[in-house]
Amino acid sequence: MRIIRTVEPGKRLIGKLAHGVDLLEALTNICVEKGISLGRLEALGAVKKARIGFYNQAAREYEFLELDKPLEILKVIGNVSTRDDKTMVHAHITLGDNEGRAFGGHLAPGTIVFACEYVIEELAGNPLERGFDEETGLPLWQD
Ligand code: ZN
Repeated sequence: MRIIRTVEPGKRLIGKLAHGVDLLEALTNICVEKGISLGRLEALGAVKKARIGFYNQAAREYEFLELDKPLEILKVIGNVSTRDDKTMVHAHITLGDNEGRAFGGHLAPGTIVFACEYVIEELAGNPLERGFDEETGLPLWQD
């Protein structure tokens, strides 16, 4: 089932995360503090280590990859919505190593910031709530 919403631009935030914080948790906390329940975000910088997920479609579960080394954040792209009435950031990350190789996946808790600059853009409109999706097994947006 597809969903199409028309939204209007809301407030925009730009800033830098603190050294050593959990990337996903820090981005989520900013959205909660600033009352953003619908929006988009992007970020770049570097991490001390990363934990990224790959959704195994056949098994219907995430497999996680731990990258225990410094990496560049080439890009974080994500959205903000709600799940169980709580603010949820869903983000994917592309990371680069010292030989220019790229790794990427679903941004998971356990990715630790070395330095990170972000932009968060609020979208004004009815919140999109996540719920269990039978076709995929994922917590997708519900109508
Ligand atoms: Zn994802």
